[in-house]
Amino acid sequence: MGKLQNVIVDIYEGRDPDSVLYVEPDGKSLTTREALDRIKRFAGAVASLGVVPGDRVSFRLAKSVDAILLIHGCLWAGAIVHPLNNAYTDHELGSLLTDAQPKLLFCGPDEHSRLEPLARNAGVRLEVIPSTASDVSSARLETARITSVPEGAAALLYTSGTTGKPKGAVITHHNLLHSARSLASAWQLTKDDVLAHPLPIFHAHGLLTSINTMIASGGSVLLLPGFDVAALLSALTRCTVLMGVPTHYSRLLDEPSVTISSVAKLRLAISGSAPLPVDLSRKFAAKTGVDIIERYGSTEAAIVVAVPRDHTERTGWVGWPLPEVEIRITDQSGRRAPRGIGVLETRGPHVFAGYWRNPTATVDAFTNDGWFITGDLAEIDDTGCVRILGREKDLVISGGLNVYPAEVEEELRRVGAVKDAAVFGVPHPDFGEAVVAAVELSMPASAFDEPSIIAAVRSRLAAYKTPKRIFVVGELPRNAMGKLLKARLREDHSGTFRR
Ligand code: AMP
Repeated sequence: MGKLQNVIVDIYEGRDPDSVLYVEPDGKSLTTREALDRIKRFAGAVASLGVVPGDRVSFRLAKSVDAILLIHGCLWAGAIVHPLNNAYTDHELGSLLTDAQPKLLFCGPDEHSRLEPLARNAGVRLEVIPSTASDVSSARLETARITSVPEGAAALLYTSGTTGKPKGAVITHHNLLHSARSLASAWQLTKDDVLAHPLPIFHAHGLLTSINTMIASGGSVLLLPGFDVAALLSALTRCTVLMGVPTHYSRLLDEPSVTISSVAKLRLAISGSAPLPVDLSRKFAAKTGVDIIERYGSTEAAIVVAVPRDHTERTGWVGWPLPEVEIRITDQSGRRAPRGIGVLETRGPHVFAGYWRNPTATVDAFTNDGWFITGDLAEIDDTGCVRILGREKDLVISGGLNVYPAEVEEELRRVGAVKDAAVFGVPHPDFGEAVVAAVELSMPASAFDEPSIIAAVRSRLAAYKTPKRIFVVGELPRNAMGKLLKARLREDHSGTFRR
């Protein structure tokens, strides 16, 4: 790997010190120089609290510029940053802290007394995030030296954990730099670009991919406290780039005040973290004049493939490998190939170092020749472009035949009455598994006509792929990143065909 890298040093260095980097919705802004000054102060503060390179530092913070700069200060000081989802219960927090064993947990002032016993039980020192950078100005700046841990670990990110016990993925500085630089180049981002940032900062997409890419590009980040359609629309009068999850685009589409002129400055709309329905992409382009492009990755493999700018013709596809990234598929017979349909595997500078103190899970995540097994079913076409067909564990095998839920979901969304759909398998006495669907309707539930929706899908798909039952739900269950929680749907409907 050559010289030790520190993602924060490397992406901030190259920038014009006077360039605006962070902007808040009220217009307050921070230049690169000011941001770096605060980062170093925070680095000094955490070092004076006893943090040494390789220590984990956990964060349970509301989204703010200072929260990001504190996290960057910890990275500067060589700590491994461990963001925590704000939705976690005390029970979840307790088990993650026990596993990560951080030196410090930073929280907001409002949560300090409530979290105190929990932190004490986990043996973790709890600190309130300094409310302004001046609070840490007394920290000795000279302690804020740039450091990198030898193994290069930068972040500890626990995987969504929608099934099973969460595992901590160890992400390196090298991984982060690779995504930031490759994406800034693939999307031709420049110092004139301004990113609208509605994503949470406890997940790789919002904390790492989006922000690091903008820092590396020389552009700036308009940080929104969260996702709110009105606030995002107001930000979009100033922003040239939006990075979001499919749910964000679907909410914008539902908003009547969104027009071509309301997003006139937007020239790049990027989606990731969950499948983007083709129909949503087309409708969004028709309404706003902006094509959504996709990139695909995961906590463990950062960004694997992306659609470069100017390739908007690949709706439904997530792109080509970033530089130095290798991809291949392993099909059901175990055959490995650079093209075709199967489980996507990848190797290269983007792949994480392994699971935190979990050698068994680490061994299971890789093939015997060292490729990371993504767990996603994908198609790689003749040009090397990738399309995601769904999670391998969501594949439905009905009567011995493979049904890719993504294909059936696309067909359901074509039916006028259906707004969104989730297709999954449930036990069936004859077929082993039967295809069923849960749908959100675009009309009152009283007008729901199950046989006619089934017939509409059947007119375009083989019988074995057509849902045998369709259930109406008010809202499909999704996590904070817009990922469908199919395990919950399977559980709710597992008795559908019980004899
Ligand atoms: P996470 O580790 O939480 O980032 O989740 C990673 C998973 O999200 C991947 O393995 C995919 O199943 C899914 N994912 C990410 N990006 C996309 C995309 N553009 N299209 C479809 N699925 C995606």
